[in-house]
Amino acid sequence: MRLAEQVALITGGASGIGRETAKIFVREGAKVVVVDVNDAAGEETVAELRELGGKAVYVHADVSKAADAENMVRVAEATFGKLTILFNNAGISHIDDDDAVHTEEDVWDLTFAINVRGVYLGCKYGIPALRRAGGGSIINTASFVAILGAATPQLAYTSSKGAVLSMSKELAAIHARENIRVNALCPGPLKTELLMKFLNTEERRQRRLVHIPMGRFGEAAEIANAALFLASSESSFVTGATFLVDGGITCAYTTPL
Ligand code: NAD
Repeated sequence: MRLAEQVALITGGASGIGRETAKIFVREGAKVVVVDVNDAAGEETVAELRELGGKAVYVHADVSKAADAENMVRVAEATFGKLTILFNNAGISHIDDDDAVHTEEDVWDLTFAINVRGVYLGCKYGIPALRRAGGGSIINTASFVAILGAATPQLAYTSSKGAVLSMSKELAAIHARENIRVNALCPGPLKTELLMKFLNTEERRQRRLVHIPMGRFGEAAEIANAALFLASSESSFVTGATFLVDGGITCAYTTPL
């Protein structure tokens, strides 16, 4: 098993990428701490992980709050003895996120509180735990929009993911000699609730699809497999990477039809 003896904490673990990753991680032998604000879905996820034969626990934490971030790491160590994989994956894409003129300050602030401060706080409390374990892997979910910008305006979200990407690179450099790797996982557009809620008309969906050489949205499980690689020792020489899993979206200016 690729994650035997590992203990993983996954924020946003109750849905989408986080949930699929939790399932793959337990199949590969990791003990998993599922962190979310959606308690019903979080508990349901943990029940599913246990049915798969995994060891898992749910912790309610709003990643934008320091006390919650500190507590989720404390629970991981108290329950499973250590923390070796930190997947800072929770993120939001606000329905009212738009261009600079139309995006309100409260939308901007909430997006940054969860998407950027959440990753920073995860690292603030998670890194000391990884040190205590002798090292580990941090995966921060950014997005392809951190590199390209989005076809449908979502300025706060895109900017927040740019911050996650640059934060990940600096963290990678800081902690490289401590046996702590930090990589930014950059998914392309996926068929998860987060994006479909935002691309809520056929016109918006087609506008995004035309940019994807593969001509389809990705699946959360396809990102989870990339997270597995970054979490495992198979990626032992990979740190500070911009790890794109995007159906080719960044290799094409436009799709040949
Ligand atoms: P999702 O909405 O299915 O899952 C996100 C989870 O995060 C939810 O369970 C939600 O309850 C949780 N969450 C929200 N706010 C939280 C908070 N403050 N504290 C703790 N948990 C919180 O979305 P997803 O598509 O699985 O997205 C996961 C990550 O992937 C996000 O960071 C997102 O920005 C990123 N991403 C998604 C796509 C896509 O197309 N879906 C593309 C690129 C990047």
